[in-house]
Amino acid sequence: DSPSTRYKKVLLKVSGEVLMGDQGYGIDMNTVDTVAAAIARVIESGVQVCLVIGGGNIFRGLSTAAAGMERASADYMGMLATVMNALAMQNALEKIGVDTRVQSAIPMAAIAEPYIRRRAVRHLEKGRVVIFAAGTGNPYFTTDTAAALRAAEMGCDALLKGTSVDGVYSADPKKDTSATRYDTLTYQDVLSRDLRVMDASAIALMRESKIPIVVFSIREEDSLRKVLNGEGTFTIIG
Ligand code: UDP
Repeated sequence: DSPSTRYKKVLLKVSGEVLMGDQGYGIDMNTVDTVAAAIARVIESGVQVCLVIGGGNIFRGLSTAAAGMERASADYMGMLATVMNALAMQNALEKIGVDTRVQSAIPMAAIAEPYIRRRAVRHLEKGRVVIFAAGTGNPYFTTDTAAALRAAEMGCDALLKGTSVDGVYSADPKKDTSATRYDTLTYQDVLSRDLRVMDASAIALMRESKIPIVVFSIREEDSLRKVLNGEGTFTIIG
């Protein structure tokens, strides 16, 4: 029963900003449930899905470092924030019958498996959703880079960036009504025009690994399924 979708193994990056919904901070459980339902729908069709969750809804290392904290410590706090989000996402998925495993880049034996690449690949083959927590495990990085790294390591066909906007625009569509959405972009376009889709190291890694990045809105429950079928609106970077 091979999936009819264009991508068979994907890494979905969900930023902390998405998980906070319309709140200014923290985890909005309705939004987490919506994302979980979207994932459940595509798991049913046989697509392998792994996740990297951000932490910006709870803690950002860079801004705290700017306020005077040592950068590395602040970044570790940021990575811990991603673990909280990962557990919320795991709970929402398990509640609707999707098998999951959380693997943390920082070993935390009581609450998550350690990150072991080959074990993660096996989980995916068994239809489990693997949630990668704690980013890359290193300060000075972001969860965008972690998403690119894990997508390459897992051999994903695409890195899906679920945001609150339905693609990459020429300007911020929330502020500029003349902003237009790009259907396609090259990695080089994103880098040279500084389009701020993901950070430059993530884009460079995807270029090197030849993995397309699809930017879409994850706010609607059906959007993930649509993107996997090549329907709906999104921007593809490749
Ligand atoms: N972080 C880190 N190394 C990583 C991933 C994340 O130090 O490999 C820290 C960093 O401080 C960052 C925070 O975790 O600000 C939250 O991650 P991020 O800002 O990428 O989350 P998002 O913007 O996706 O919500």
